[in-house]
Amino acid sequence: MYQDFQQHLQKTLNEIREAGLYKNERVIITPQSSDIKVATSSPSPCGEGQGGVSELPVINFCANNYLGLADNKELIEAAKARMDARGYGMASVRFICGTQDTHKELERVISDFFGTEDTILYAACFDANGGLFEPLLTEEDAIISDALNHASIIDGVRLCKAVRYRYANGDMADLEEQLKKAQAQRFRIIATDGVFSMDGNVCPLDKIYELAQKYNALVMVDESHSAGVVGKTGHGVTELYNMRGKIEIITGTLGKAFGGSVGGFTTGKKEIIDLLRQRSRPYLFSNSIPPMIAAAGIKTFEILTRSNELQDRLHENTAYFVEKMRAAGFDIKPTQSAICAVMLYDARLSQEFAAALQKEGIYVTGFYYPVVPKGQARIRVQVSAAHTREQLDKCIAAFTKIGTILGVLK
Ligand SMILES: *Cc1c(COP(=O)(O)O)cnc(C)c1O
Repeated sequence: MYQDFQQHLQKTLNEIREAGLYKNERVIITPQSSDIKVATSSPSPCGEGQGGVSELPVINFCANNYLGLADNKELIEAAKARMDARGYGMASVRFICGTQDTHKELERVISDFFGTEDTILYAACFDANGGLFEPLLTEEDAIISDALNHASIIDGVRLCKAVRYRYANGDMADLEEQLKKAQAQRFRIIATDGVFSMDGNVCPLDKIYELAQKYNALVMVDESHSAGVVGKTGHGVTELYNMRGKIEIITGTLGKAFGGSVGGFTTGKKEIIDLLRQRSRPYLFSNSIPPMIAAAGIKTFEILTRSNELQDRLHENTAYFVEKMRAAGFDIKPTQSAICAVMLYDARLSQEFAAALQKEGIYVTGFYYPVVPKGQARIRVQVSAAHTREQLDKCIAAFTKIGTILGVLK
């Protein structure tokens, strides 16, 4: 039975390899941090073939660890203490017997952070977005979605019967056109990422909100790459545009700036959250997050509201990096986040450049078509509050060295 299917899969895999799109996992053998070690040949999962592994120390510029909390001692202690007090797992979905006080407290803390009415937790933001639209809208309604929205928003929209409209990334004239068409429907939701992950640009939330008022639409913002990062105190795009409490639906993740573990959430208007608790499928049919993760989540928000040190350092680091890289002659996309797209345009060059940087001890990822448009290949650098000035300088020096060798800098 398997033979035909196996051949079919092998053919597909070969096509992926030949197109140069095959993804190999790079194995890290330290905690996630700004300083990590990667294994240069990965150990086999069944314990065979070990011994050929050597360690390569690198400075990490490709994690979503924006605030450097992924190995934070206070979070680790909070997780350990709650695991001792409340056990390892919940073995249940939330509404049967998977809700502890820890989950309720984390939901309250997230609502306080965003200035919203209520919050619902999910196993991941992928689930939050996947389970968002279908319970709220029917074929009578419309979703107007930014063309560069995250895959999970796209999947969530697909799972919903609402009429779909798409507007070009951040293009307000196009959004207005689509909103005009969507007047044919009953209710309308505009869906957008807060920060777009490939360029690091922020959505024009103030203008989106104005159009939403004009054309009678609700607004949904996914703050996964923006919460903890954007805004003076890291409260995300609603802080940046001074719009706290105005947006009906915000989704986000605990897997990036907020500790880098797992967990997602939807936060916003009370009735929306209430209906999601009744009807959202990833919430109803998927396990509760472990108490230790929820407890570390609570601690994360405590750390971030206690002091602005991490947000300040992240903003300083990003501004420093962008300024020095531009001064060195690199072309960096306009960014309002901690994502810096160093433009190289050529796909092969982006891969060569990233490989050469790794030899210099700088760990980054090169992106090219189809992840970004054709002719828009780049290296994405993600700055963290955990980076020291020395680490940033090493990165800039390595970029300059390789850029000169590869003819990018004249
Ligand atoms: C990372 C990301 C997600 C997925 O978050 P997980 O919690 O890892 O599932 C969703 N939306 C956006 C915009 C993201 O960047």
